[in-house]
Amino acid sequence: MPRKSICSFCGFDIPIGRGLMFVRRDGSILHFCCKKCRKSMLEQKKNPRKTRWTKFYGQE
Ligand SMILES: [Zn+2]
Repeated sequence: MPRKSICSFCGFDIPIGRGLMFVRRDGSILHFCCKKCRKSMLEQKKNPRKTRWTKFYGQE
């Protein structure tokens, strides 16, 4: 069992016992460190690579 997970949107570590889990209809599991990330990905459908405060910003 992984002790900690990584936020599916921003890419930063989620502390144990924190964060949100979301299961998509296709069965894939997404982890989010905070509501901000969940909202950005699921509601605003932002691209992490184009969002400044994520770890993926500027990556290919
Ligand atoms: Zn996050």
